[in-house]
Amino acid sequence: ASTSATATPAHNAPLPPPSVPSAGRSSRIAPHSHIKGLGLTPEGYALADTAGFVGQKVAREACGVVVDLIKSRKFSGRALLLVGAPGTGKTALALAVSHELGSKVPFCPMVGSEVYSAEVKKTEVLAEAFRRAIGIRIKETKQVYEGEVTELTPTEAENPLSGYGKTVSHVIVGLKTVKGTKQLKLDPSIYESILKEKIVVGDVIYIEHNTGAVKRVGRSDAYASSYDLESETYVPLPKGDVHKRKELVQDVTLGDLDAANARPQGGQDIMSVMGSLVKTGRTEVTDKLRREVNKVVKGYVEQGVAEVVPGVVFIDEVHMLDIECFTYLNALLESQMAPTVILATNRGNSLVRGTSDIVAPHGIPVDLLDRCMIVKTDAYSREEVGKVVQLRAGVEGLKLGPGVVEKLAAEGEKSSLRYALQLLTPASILARLVGRTQIEMDDIGEMGELFLDAKTSASLIGEGGFTGGN
Ligand code: ATP
Repeated sequence: ASTSATATPAHNAPLPPPSVPSAGRSSRIAPHSHIKGLGLTPEGYALADTAGFVGQKVAREACGVVVDLIKSRKFSGRALLLVGAPGTGKTALALAVSHELGSKVPFCPMVGSEVYSAEVKKTEVLAEAFRRAIGIRIKETKQVYEGEVTELTPTEAENPLSGYGKTVSHVIVGLKTVKGTKQLKLDPSIYESILKEKIVVGDVIYIEHNTGAVKRVGRSDAYASSYDLESETYVPLPKGDVHKRKELVQDVTLGDLDAANARPQGGQDIMSVMGSLVKTGRTEVTDKLRREVNKVVKGYVEQGVAEVVPGVVFIDEVHMLDIECFTYLNALLESQMAPTVILATNRGNSLVRGTSDIVAPHGIPVDLLDRCMIVKTDAYSREEVGKVVQLRAGVEGLKLGPGVVEKLAAEGEKSSLRYALQLLTPASILARLVGRTQIEMDDIGEMGELFLDAKTSASLIGEGGFTGGN
């Protein structure tokens, strides 16, 4: 059997990592890298200290119920509201919920005050966060040729451009599998890869159809005698057809697709192709563009090419939103493709921003509060702070000398868990400055002289500590 095919190589930049959150977002998630999930039994009870979670049992169990509701699609149009003092694990709980929903579920954290930017409308900031919390899993099928090289003939021709000399005009590659041999007529640029990889007859190779990339897989069994057996790199002849389809999966978010379509790049990799779904010359993400992206994605879902993976949008300090944002949030909650919404606040009764007289619990209008399931987070005991400090030290590769955990636990109990954790990194720098790899009590003591915790700082002001002169 002999066929002819032309591979059109495209020298594309490697795929952008679309599922990787922006630097800002990943640095927000980094302090929670020890959190792997809610750490619940199959019956939904919180295990003592698992999945990186210490204590906070009631809140974890409540979040477990919410996860069940989400999974059984009984949570749409609703939101989870986490209420508790700063540093009591609200962000950690939200992240754990997203882990419980699946491994590649997008988690999009933001802070309420982020909506106040000079360039972008408040509601746009919210809309974008919601789009970034909807994952799209795209299954791309790639055609590859795989087989043992039986023939490798670069055909030379006069170079019409330079007027003299010869260049490769095409390359004939014979490929054999156990099922038969095929002859491919390939684009000349493939020759570069063939030379670079030092491909010779008898090698088993694989060629990517759309990029023209050539990979040497090894040597065929038939040539084993002439091959270096010590390295054991030869492989048996591929069993299947010369043409093979490989399935690749790409995880992107609706937000990525909006952005890619607002600034189309051109090219053949999946993001470029997904970036030209919508034919526009726009450079801005508009509602119309979003609707068009939705339409195309819907089409792909119907064809079985893509799958929608709803994730979690987390809005910390939700009391910073104003009435206009809250109204919009209500509408977003109702939308068809909404992610799970988790809100957090540490406020009690307060004025709803943007109004002059509406005081509501947590500064959230009652119509939104009505949709919320509210979960409270408790302050940590000294022992619990100690455990989290040890967990974080482990993750950050820091060694703690005698008494350090106890000291930090006491600091944490006095001010907050966050404060105790925040002392770790600068203390490790102090230790390194004096040539130690281990954090000692002295380092923590010195930190106490250099920095204040919030309560001490406030009490100093209260006592007139910063009034100066008199
Ligand atoms: P804020 O509202 O001020 O943002 P928060 O309630 O969201 O605070 P987190 O940021 O979740 O608090 O917690 C502070 C740090 O402590 C994070 O690094 C978090 O991962 C860790 N942490 C909080 N609670 C726990 C816990 N129960 N077990 C393990 N780690 C925890």
